[in-house]
Amino acid sequence: MRAATKPPRVTAIYPGSFDPITNGHLDLVERGCCLFDKLIVAILRNETKQPLFSVEERIDMLREVVDGYANVVVDSFAGLLVDYAAENGATVLLRGIRAISDYEYELQMALMNRRLRPEIETAFLMAGEAYSFISSHLIKQVVSLGGDVSGMVPAAVETRLRGRYAARGTP
Ligand code: ADP
Repeated sequence: MRAATKPPRVTAIYPGSFDPITNGHLDLVERGCCLFDKLIVAILRNETKQPLFSVEERIDMLREVVDGYANVVVDSFAGLLVDYAAENGATVLLRGIRAISDYEYELQMALMNRRLRPEIETAFLMAGEAYSFISSHLIKQVVSLGGDVSGMVPAAVETRLRGRYAARGTP
């Protein structure tokens, strides 16, 4: 059994694609930053996915919306999440659960990460009830079809989404 010692300062990583950040993500950041001394919101640089926004654009949007939180920083990473966490002195991975559909994938990831680095714990927060139906994927679909997503993403993100789809000429 591991010794039950809590580090004096707990750093958590909130990893994700954030393509783009939604008010559901933001709700998790707001709640997460009260639980930990430092919260790193980290965008996975995944060359195999075809994101709507580049990593740099997503970093810009995230920085804009988390600007008011003194203990939240925005970063990006490539490679294994647990290695990135260890390099940054983080002992917690923060993830959100919206529905049972999230649970299976999240459980698998949490157990794999625990196997790779048992000293790093995954903490889950249940999605806020007002945001549990929101996903970046669905937001993009709605905006691409001309729907209104106000209240579901920060206003600056909505503007960027509209601009991106207008430039693409969709629908
Ligand atoms: P990923 O590609 O890793 O799923 P996402 O950006 O979609 O990245 O999500 C990052 C994390 O935020 C995941 O743990 C996801 O479950 C959580 N999340 C996404 N949307 C919401 C939401 N509306 N409410 C709470 N948590 C959410």
